[in-house]
Amino acid sequence: MRRRLLAWYRHHRRDLPWRTDPTPYAVWVSEIMLQQTTVTAAVPFYERWMKRFPTLRDLAAADEEDVLRLWAGLGYYNRARNLHRAAMQIVSEGDGEIPHTVTDLMDLPGIGRYTAGAIASIAFGERVPVVDANVARVLARFFAVREEVSTADGQRILWDHAEDLTQTNNPGDLNQALMELGALVCTPTSPRCDICPIQPLCRAAQRGDMHRYPVLRERPEAVEVTEVGAAVERKGRFLILRRPKSGRMAGMWEFPHGPLRGGEPAETVAPMVKSLTGLDIHIDEPLRTIEYTFTHHQITLHVWRARATGGRVHRRSHDAHRWVALRDLMSRPMATAQRRIVEALMESAGGRQLDLLELGEESEESAPI
Ligand code: SF4
Repeated sequence: MRRRLLAWYRHHRRDLPWRTDPTPYAVWVSEIMLQQTTVTAAVPFYERWMKRFPTLRDLAAADEEDVLRLWAGLGYYNRARNLHRAAMQIVSEGDGEIPHTVTDLMDLPGIGRYTAGAIASIAFGERVPVVDANVARVLARFFAVREEVSTADGQRILWDHAEDLTQTNNPGDLNQALMELGALVCTPTSPRCDICPIQPLCRAAQRGDMHRYPVLRERPEAVEVTEVGAAVERKGRFLILRRPKSGRMAGMWEFPHGPLRGGEPAETVAPMVKSLTGLDIHIDEPLRTIEYTFTHHQITLHVWRARATGGRVHRRSHDAHRWVALRDLMSRPMATAQRRIVEALMESAGGRQLDLLELGEESEESAPI
């Protein structure tokens, strides 16, 4: 299996930017980005990131807001925060060199067994395994693993098989070959056994029951949630709030919004803004309805365009707020759903309100409006 995998990988590996010069830092950044993100989606983010933070020291010296801004759109922002914290830890506690072994790597924030294994095997040649979703699928099919793959038993079996395989001179290539095979050939719904290099040895393929593996736990049903939100304008600038430094979406900027707790969405938006920010608003018109998922929630967010008419912004649920000109909103670290509100504002501005786009710097509200 090892020989077949490595030979196949040499000929079929994709030409990806982090493979050109697989420094420990490049492997690390790419592996963190690729968690919960496809290769195609991750490439432009990776290239932008490496331009802005070409070395670990550049990342360590960066401002967290800058780091989050570059990550905006990739989701799961804790990944970026942890990358940043780990870089600062390496620079402040050591000589600025990324640790070489799985054990030392796992002492860093945000680095679990998988990421540590990828960095240690690909960048440093340590004979250690990696098991991500792609590798788990290949191994579960190849060895016809009957245990549910997310259970402790299932995980142990898969990691043991992967560990056996990496006892080779090029563990990094072997790990990447398994990941690449899972991504390109042994795909979730249509495995291409006809072109698979390990097909003659694969138990599931021999039995023709590839679709039974991997054995997965049933997903909980998505919970539907309705939210209301407002793009509140004052003197050509829009109010955004920064979430607290810990918890969900920590440190990200957003428009005032919250769950609909009964009643008609249009009637609840002004009271929601009042209780969240202390501001009185006048609702002008519906701006956009945005659908997005967060963990197992399916969220429908109705957003209105509104004007501030009175009150003073308080900070009960957020740690900062700003009134920001439309042209500057996109440069703030914001989650994808929030960025879609900015896009809607830009579309509705559409040239007719160039003054809005030209209105200069943000301001922090400190006086009653
Ligand atoms: S033979 Fe088919 S099921 Fe087995 S590893 Fe290859 S693609 Fe997957």
